[in-house]
Amino acid sequence: MKKLIALLLALAMVFALVACAAKPAEEPAEEPATEEPATEEPAEEPAEEPAEEPAEEPAEEAGGLVGVSMPTKDLQRWNQDGDNMKKELEAAGYEVDLQFAANDPSMQVSQIENMIANGAKALVIASIDGDALGTVLDQAKEAGCAIIAYDRPIGSDAVSYYATFDNFSVGAAQGKFIVDQLDLANAGDKTYNIELIGGSPDDGNAYVFFDGAMSELQKYIDAGTLVVVSGQKDFESIATEGWSSEKAQERFENLLSTYYADKQLDAVMCSNDSTAQGVAVALENAYDNDVYPILTGQDCDIVSVKNMLDDKQAMSIFKDTRTLAAKTVEMVDAIMKGTEPPTNADFTTVDGAHTYPAFYCDPIPCTKDMVQSLLVDSGYYTAEELGIG
Ligand code: BGC
Repeated sequence: MKKLIALLLALAMVFALVACAAKPAEEPAEEPATEEPATEEPAEEPAEEPAEEPAEEPAEEAGGLVGVSMPTKDLQRWNQDGDNMKKELEAAGYEVDLQFAANDPSMQVSQIENMIANGAKALVIASIDGDALGTVLDQAKEAGCAIIAYDRPIGSDAVSYYATFDNFSVGAAQGKFIVDQLDLANAGDKTYNIELIGGSPDDGNAYVFFDGAMSELQKYIDAGTLVVVSGQKDFESIATEGWSSEKAQERFENLLSTYYADKQLDAVMCSNDSTAQGVAVALENAYDNDVYPILTGQDCDIVSVKNMLDDKQAMSIFKDTRTLAAKTVEMVDAIMKGTEPPTNADFTTVDGAHTYPAFYCDPIPCTKDMVQSLLVDSGYYTAEELGIG
């Protein structure tokens, strides 16, 4: 019996030993398991830190690359627009890539592609052909790049904002100027001869200017008070490709020799200064009449201001590119900082396909007597630049 008890005790000890031996075997197996989350924690910490830093950076920096794409260097205004924008953006702490595309839509596309590849955070684009940029703008949007249409509309939903002038009122002011100068409201049976010179068909603005001008002129044309002797009245027949002075001159020399060999021409509604300059040259070359027609324009280009002073162009529209550049920079800055950009209108493209928020700056009609106060005293031009210093 004693032997049996001793055997049972020995067996119990063996079980106890096996049980003890099993425990430490389990424990180390558990330990690494409980350590794993411990090792994950420090791994999470460094992962969180760098994630927080870049989130703070843009607000502090307010910098980054902004691509500014202008249509051409050929027209004075785009050089001014580009220079103003670069100056203002740099002063606000941005890096600027300013490009001019020689009025070539495919060059503009490749310049924009480069800007995106170089990491631009925002693009400011004055398009050559507002309908030829679709794909590259989609790429820009996918890359997280904000797009601001500058001065000219763009047919794309990738556009975030539009900074421009009130372009309908630009055209309306040109039309109203002719109405007032000829005193059409009191014309009675008297009739006046007029011709129309529009802008480039690939520039959405050109249609808006034309509609604005016709909002004032159409009723006098319908009433027969204003006579378009050439019969060229619809936008397609009066458009000027590329807003080219040479093309405007060529078309106008033809009109003058065909219709005005022995007729007085009272007014030419020119949509801008570059077309008005072409018309002025054509008049010099091919018009022989004591009455010089009223020529409208817009931009207050130096050549056209000089023409106003010489009575070769009756008016222009002052679109202060400093104001437009400043508004655009405000827009860029607000987008970058996640605040609300300034807007005062909703713009819809001529075909009705795209609508985006816009800011319209005020255009100011300018005549010869306003040159000093509007253009010189405001510091836009020096008197020397205008040949009056
Ligand atoms: C601008 C005008 C300019 C014209 C030709 C338009 O889109 O608004 O100011 O005269 O283009 O460059």
